[in-house]
Amino acid sequence: MHVDDVKVGVIYTPYYLTDFQKCPRLYEYKKRWQPRDEGRKTAMLVGAAVAHGLEMHYLGCADSAVPLQPVEFAESYVREHYQEDSDRSLDGVLTLVRRGVKHGMATDLGLSQILGVEKWYGRIRPDLVGRDASGRLVVVDHKVKMNLDDRYKENELLTFDTSNQMWHYAWAVGQEYGERVAQVYIHLIVLNPRVYTEVHPIQIDPERLAQWLKSAAQDWQDMARGESRQRYGSCIGKYGKCEMHDACHVLNGNEEKFEVLYDCKPERRG
Ligand code: SF4
Repeated sequence: MHVDDVKVGVIYTPYYLTDFQKCPRLYEYKKRWQPRDEGRKTAMLVGAAVAHGLEMHYLGCADSAVPLQPVEFAESYVREHYQEDSDRSLDGVLTLVRRGVKHGMATDLGLSQILGVEKWYGRIRPDLVGRDASGRLVVVDHKVKMNLDDRYKENELLTFDTSNQMWHYAWAVGQEYGERVAQVYIHLIVLNPRVYTEVHPIQIDPERLAQWLKSAAQDWQDMARGESRQRYGSCIGKYGKCEMHDACHVLNGNEEKFEVLYDCKPERRG
């Protein structure tokens, strides 16, 4: 089977597809509800700021007219978005972000050409698209981890090998350039307890990609027609309860009562 043989209708982003595959009801609820914010967590801010700094770095690599100030750019992003009463001080967040950007910039990704930095390809926007030393098309995704014990690193990296996000990147970027993506690289940036970066390649086998696309396209169809069945097998996992656990198992799906535990949000788009 080839990706061109797969009939694709409506397309959704990888995050929504992953929610849907975990449990269609979860995907449905998350259109309208989010767990109440309990304290301001800075992990997402650090990850976003490091990604912004690296975006500036690679834009500068691709076009010498772009001024190279990645660390300052990332710092200004933090100052703009930092909220008081967070779980880390502003100085602490800035230190972590500087660390992430500097180490991220020093990683040798082995690229011979940069084709796109934070560029949209349909519904997805990979961090970096380029060519490796052999001229093959590759995609890079920066993943910032606040903390990763060496004992858990291999398992952490394995989860990316079957990630909808990475396979969607491979498909959409390949469609854009009319050639296959050879590899998606996870550019892992670990900030604690030791600071290091690592490049984890995911080989994109064309037949495997077509298989992924066939299943994803069927799920996208089910999402579009409003499938919202529950999957009790996903209610409690190794990392704890599903984020909508109490909506299903305490409030019994009665959305009139959800405001007791959840914040309403404007209906999102797929
Ligand atoms: S608690 Fe279970 S049934 Fe409810 S949304 Fe989560 S996974 Fe689905």
